[in-house]
Amino acid sequence: MKKSDQTKTKYFAYCRKSSEDSQRQIASIGDQKNSLGKLIESEKLELARDPFTEEKSAKDPGRPVFNEMLDRIEKGEANALLCWDIDRLYRNPVDEGRLRWMLQKGVVRVIRTPYRQFYPEDAGLLMGVEGGRATDYVIRLSKNVKRGLNGKAMRGWRPSGGPIGYLNVGTEKGSKTIAIDPERFELIRKMWDMFLTGSYSVSKIWKLATSEWGLTTIPHKKIGGKAPSMSHMYKIFNDPFYYGYFPWTDPETGEERMQKGNHQPMITEKEYRRAQVLLGKKGKPQPKVREFAYTGMMHCGECNSTITAEEKNQIICSECKFKFAYEHKTACPKCHTDISEMKNPTVLNYIYYHCTKKKNRNCSQKAIRIEELEKQFVEVLTDITIDEGYLKIALDYLRDKQQNSGNVEKTVRMSLQSSFNACQTRLVNLNREFTSPLNSNYELYTPEDFRKQKTDILAERERLEKEMGGTKEKLDRDLETAERIFNFCAFALKHFNTDDLVKKRLIFGTIGSNLTLKDKKLFIDKLHPYLLIENELRAQKTLQVPLEPKKAHAIHGLSQGFVSSTKPLLRDQGSNLGHPP
Ligand SMILES: [Zn+2]
Ligand SMILES: [Zn+2]
Repeated sequence: MKKSDQTKTKYFAYCRKSSEDSQRQIASIGDQKNSLGKLIESEKLELARDPFTEEKSAKDPGRPVFNEMLDRIEKGEANALLCWDIDRLYRNPVDEGRLRWMLQKGVVRVIRTPYRQFYPEDAGLLMGVEGGRATDYVIRLSKNVKRGLNGKAMRGWRPSGGPIGYLNVGTEKGSKTIAIDPERFELIRKMWDMFLTGSYSVSKIWKLATSEWGLTTIPHKKIGGKAPSMSHMYKIFNDPFYYGYFPWTDPETGEERMQKGNHQPMITEKEYRRAQVLLGKKGKPQPKVREFAYTGMMHCGECNSTITAEEKNQIICSECKFKFAYEHKTACPKCHTDISEMKNPTVLNYIYYHCTKKKNRNCSQKAIRIEELEKQFVEVLTDITIDEGYLKIALDYLRDKQQNSGNVEKTVRMSLQSSFNACQTRLVNLNREFTSPLNSNYELYTPEDFRKQKTDILAERERLEKEMGGTKEKLDRDLETAERIFNFCAFALKHFNTDDLVKKRLIFGTIGSNLTLKDKKLFIDKLHPYLLIENELRAQKTLQVPLEPKKAHAIHGLSQGFVSSTKPLLRDQGSNLGHPP
């Protein structure tokens, strides 16, 4: 594994379209190639060879090009996959299983589509394409994001342990955690407080801490137990661990990023950033990797370029009140006061999302603050959120419906069966008449007539057979899907309101595709079809405000509403969600 970390990520691209896609809105192979080409260009991805293309359904295993591609990945020709949509890759459990395994093992480091990226820890998300991929997140989210994301959380302990103010607990590998040091935590926090006022220099705090408070490092076998040095003080004020993060290299992808730790933070990220400014040139350069949750997920509503994020860090000079960007500067450009000597300067940090203007340099769209963007998204989530009491009733209703669906299915089956029987009779009669003496000179049927009629009846019989097999399966699937959606609606907002970027990104990407930003407004053009029940749910919510789950009449009243609310699920259509473009 170590060795492959060093190698570059090389992509194979795969484009597929088949005749079964003709009724669905699937881009042509040429369009798929174009769209991937843009992604390759904008993200500077390395393609190992020309895209693989295939005109074959993915419903059954055994696509030659697809298999060849995976074989070649296993041989090491590439280690990443690019496709227009995940459902281009597989629509059957055999191919899905193989690919998922390859991703889980890191043979495939990443699968990218223009809207999403799947890493080894997301292997579990790669399912349920046919049944609505959003619903898979739903299970994950409602079960507290057990698998993939939890695996990540388990890595949330800095391998090198905690800095002063923390204690390393446990000795065995795998059970090591980091707790606060009751003896030192408050002292270190006091040091931060003093430093953050901007009125105490590092050396002054050092003197206070070592001579007056008696701060010492934790004694180890031979080292420690002594007063910390001055350079140790700078290390403290420079360590992102105190606000809850540490730099971490992903063993699967080799990417370095800031990992959220499981330990209790001592300060906020804002305080940390302010301290870095106050440290001025004495602070080490901060790790450059800063993750933005929603980059690459939205497009500009005016020029269709991608939306990217940017951070603005400014400081207001405490001496002359001049406002300037402090990166790469150690002093005020106007009055030349050194930043580390400013008394309590105001530090401003903003994250903006804005159009890259790659497609149109003159695009007039302005940047939007992340707070404003998230506020709008939370409004969408609030609309689809249902409370847990309501969720319980909804699920009870669905289970009830599943039982009743047995009856519906019986009726449908009976009707299909009688049509099927009629077909059989027609077939027998046709044969009998053709071979009867009355037809000895083809008075009734010529051989051509006979063949044609027989073919028609056989086709009809086959169709009926298929339908009889499909009814139950379809009903089960619809109900299962509905159940998952209700869960999603109940928990999405709660999960969005955490500071976990991965979760936020998942929910943001799940709610719909083709998110655009225009005039500082977020539009969700194609709400996930399964979430179209949203409007009806909202109507239900207002109607059923004083819900009392135990009363039979409430359930009864609700069921009627629900019959109509599940319809869009079955129709599987796309439309706008309450935010007209
Ligand atoms: Zn634009
Ligand atoms: Zn100044």
